[in-house]
Amino acid sequence: MKEEPSAMICAPVSSIDPLDVPSGAIVDQCARCGHDVWLAPSGQAIKEKGALLVCVPCGLPEAMASGGVLITKEQIQEIREHDPEVYRELKAMLRRSSSRNN
Ligand SMILES: [Zn+2]
Repeated sequence: MKEEPSAMICAPVSSIDPLDVPSGAIVDQCARCGHDVWLAPSGQAIKEKGALLVCVPCGLPEAMASGGVLITKEQIQEIREHDPEVYRELKAMLRRSSSRNN
């Protein structure tokens, strides 16, 4: 059985002050729009397993539509610290997707 690679949401480089980027993070590109995104060490391991990277603006609508977008606890923490507005959207999205699965 072939597993579909899931998409993983990453913070756009433009939304985070370079001084605030987690140590070990690297710049990669969104698979949808090509925008530069930060890939934290927690995400690098997931990418190696074949996950697509998508930036927050591309990934959030996709996550809401399909629920097939992956975001790690570490990433949620990073987004919460650096982008409170995106975090609010994300929290609302996660609430919707978890209530759908119950
Ligand atoms: Zn994008």
